[in-house]
Amino acid sequence: MAKRDYYEILGVAKNASDDDIKKAYRKLAMKYHPDRNQGDEAKKAEEKFKEVKEAYEMLSDAQKRAAYDQYGHAGVDPNMGGRGAGPEGFGGFAEAFGDIFGDIFGGAAGGRRGGGQQVYRGSDLSYAMEITLEEAAAGKETQIRIPSWEGCETCHGSGAKPGTSPKTCPTCSGSGTVHLRQGFFSIQQSCPHCHGSGKIIPEPCPTCGGAGKIKRQKTLEVKIPAGINEGMRIRSAGNGEPGTNGGPPGDLYIEIRIKPHEIFERDGDDLHCTVPVGMTTAALGGTIEVPTLGSKAEIELPEGTQHGKTFRLRGKGIKGIRSSYPGDLYAHITVETPVKLTEHQRKLLRELEESFRKGGDRHSPNAKSWTDRVKDLFK
Ligand SMILES: [Zn+2]
Ligand SMILES: [Zn+2]
Repeated sequence: MAKRDYYEILGVAKNASDDDIKKAYRKLAMKYHPDRNQGDEAKKAEEKFKEVKEAYEMLSDAQKRAAYDQYGHAGVDPNMGGRGAGPEGFGGFAEAFGDIFGDIFGGAAGGRRGGGQQVYRGSDLSYAMEITLEEAAAGKETQIRIPSWEGCETCHGSGAKPGTSPKTCPTCSGSGTVHLRQGFFSIQQSCPHCHGSGKIIPEPCPTCGGAGKIKRQKTLEVKIPAGINEGMRIRSAGNGEPGTNGGPPGDLYIEIRIKPHEIFERDGDDLHCTVPVGMTTAALGGTIEVPTLGSKAEIELPEGTQHGKTFRLRGKGIKGIRSSYPGDLYAHITVETPVKLTEHQRKLLRELEESFRKGGDRHSPNAKSWTDRVKDLFK
């Protein structure tokens, strides 16, 4: 059987980053995981799983990837030396199977506890928080309402209607796991009947519906560090969903969104703003006031300031979380053409125009080179 291209197996581009490769691998490994594929699908999934794992092993190793890029499969034959997976591949699968638990479920699934019940870490929760640019720059202490769970008082956490009690699951005899035989080996998986708890509840508690816990809200104090930027996440350990069968809770992630600002645009630690300046001020020069975040500053415009000129105000940007110094503020000058002229102003401008005409190109620094370029164009 011709071997498929490793990049194709993982569904990534040839120039995919290590991160992309890892992500693609995790997704596919989950998809073809034995827990998720039963009966007729299991055999096919097992083949896919081996294929995906092999592709990942090769592409996640910089040396092997380079050899594969240069020589193709001949450069990195996994059966040549090294790990020594047998030609039948069963050893390879058993090893892969162990690996996938280590890699993907290691952190998430936790271990096992007495009685064989499966212990799961709770899911992580994420919370999007929108703050202003000022708050991002200065930091903020605030409170958020997040879901929390507490044991049900009606059933004292058992999930069973008062007066009844949970029964041992008949499918797994209370172990929480079942063994499926697939070919030459058997796979242990969470019991589909009791979902790994080892118990079934014949009559669920009317208060919690059998969950044994009730979802409530709680208030959490959150400290947003000064300098935080769009998309950064604050982790609040243990404030995610509770674990199952005594597993640890997940974490809460607060993801920061920054509202668009009316004046400033942020670029890393720097700020940018546009400052409109009247035509005469730009021509004569003068002091103009520019806003800074939370304050203001002055800029000395030299005589003859052109449209598009940028002034840098050192240290008037934002001090990032990991920065030692604040960034700069860039003020981009826009020269405005006067509108709604009075008859008198129009007359003055005409006189001015007449006077400029006598001076030739002297008064328009870009006009001469522009006229020359246009001439060249029509030659
Ligand atoms: Zn069961
Ligand atoms: Zn209850």
